[in-house]
Amino acid sequence: GADVDAGTNVVTGADMATGTNTATGESTTHSPDFAKIRLDFPVLAREVNGRPLVYLDSAASSQMPAQVAERIDHYHRYEHANVHRGIHTLSQEATDAFEQTRDRVQHFLGAANRSEIIFTSGTTDSINLVAHSYGGSTLRPGDEILLTQMEHHANIVPWQMIAERTGAKILVADVDEHGNLDLDDLRTKLSNRTKIVALVHVSNALGTVNPVQTIIRMAREQGAIVLLDGAQSAPHQPVNVQELDCDFYAFSAHKVCGPTGFGILYGKKELLEAMPPYRGGGEMISRVSFEGTTYEEPPFRFEAGTPPIAAAIGLGAAIEYLQSIGMEQIALRERELLEEATKKLAAVDGLRIIGNPAERSAVLPFVMDGIHASDIGTLLDKQGIAVRTGHHCAQPIHDRYGLDATARASFAFYNSSEDIDRLVEGLEFVKTFF
Ligand code: PLP
Repeated sequence: GADVDAGTNVVTGADMATGTNTATGESTTHSPDFAKIRLDFPVLAREVNGRPLVYLDSAASSQMPAQVAERIDHYHRYEHANVHRGIHTLSQEATDAFEQTRDRVQHFLGAANRSEIIFTSGTTDSINLVAHSYGGSTLRPGDEILLTQMEHHANIVPWQMIAERTGAKILVADVDEHGNLDLDDLRTKLSNRTKIVALVHVSNALGTVNPVQTIIRMAREQGAIVLLDGAQSAPHQPVNVQELDCDFYAFSAHKVCGPTGFGILYGKKELLEAMPPYRGGGEMISRVSFEGTTYEEPPFRFEAGTPPIAAAIGLGAAIEYLQSIGMEQIALRERELLEEATKKLAAVDGLRIIGNPAERSAVLPFVMDGIHASDIGTLLDKQGIAVRTGHHCAQPIHDRYGLDATARASFAFYNSSEDIDRLVEGLEFVKTFF
């Protein structure tokens, strides 16, 4: 592991297993020792309701390795000061550690410039920023915003709010019965009236990995810009915003082994430079007077007030941790877990997995004959097994399938085959109640 700051060394199970290349932050070719990596997560060693915890809710929030928790703790104990405006050493150290996260995120996303990385409070905040600042300043009556049926509410409601304000119209691309986006439908709904296409890279409700490169090309041909909701892609696969050629990309720290209350908006430099501020206050100005105020350049134009410094430093440590394993290795590991879980769940009598998309991330929504999803969740919890139940903040896609709720098992690289076996055993136990 490389030094994070102030002598805090992040050494992961992955480092020990693979011999991480500290120059690039990516692991070398050997397969990481995931059993050892699992030990980095203290919570996975605890018991819940008298049984060892099986955590299958990483799509809602991933767990945090000790290295990240310790980095945040170290900041609070020894390095805390406000950033950017201090002349004293402590403030400069805090600023360096804080701004180092911008460099790490730039590298993590393959962005061309560090000024394209905006610190926000999460995916929701990032999308609101784009909707209100970009959408609010460019949309005119009759312009169209194209969404899809599988969006999280975070990528629906901000657009509804801005459409109401500007007179723009929202169109929605259909999803087929397998959980794939209907590209023909999407094509018919794209026109030169489409100004913004906003869609989920990986669906939190279905696990569908959307063919975003194709969609971005289609949108470009009509002159529309594209926002990707990356909340479920950033944690699970390598992402390169320049290769994707998306205009905006949003993700949350708490889904990539980092803390809550923090996230990222990537935006193309020329778009960000033309966008008005979203919130006003300190840090985002160039000069303030009562006659008129001028604004900072991006990224600071969009970062009013004292930021969550510890959370930013925590995200930096989380990215360093993930890169020490390697995003390719993480994707491979999760694919193995998904294949095993799909096979074993499909063999459970009376259980139906929802959707069968062409490409799926490690998210498995399912229903069971005669048993409501919330009962599945409650009875699994009694056995120490954490899954999510409900509509997963994606009501429209549940309406599409005529479901009010599903149970959802979602996996991360720190899960194991034993977790899958415990889930299957747990579901058999659930059935004995009905
Ligand atoms: N988009 C998707 C696809 C998500 O899964 C989530 C989180 O569940 C969000 C957006 C919202 O993320 P946050 O609540 O961290 O802002």
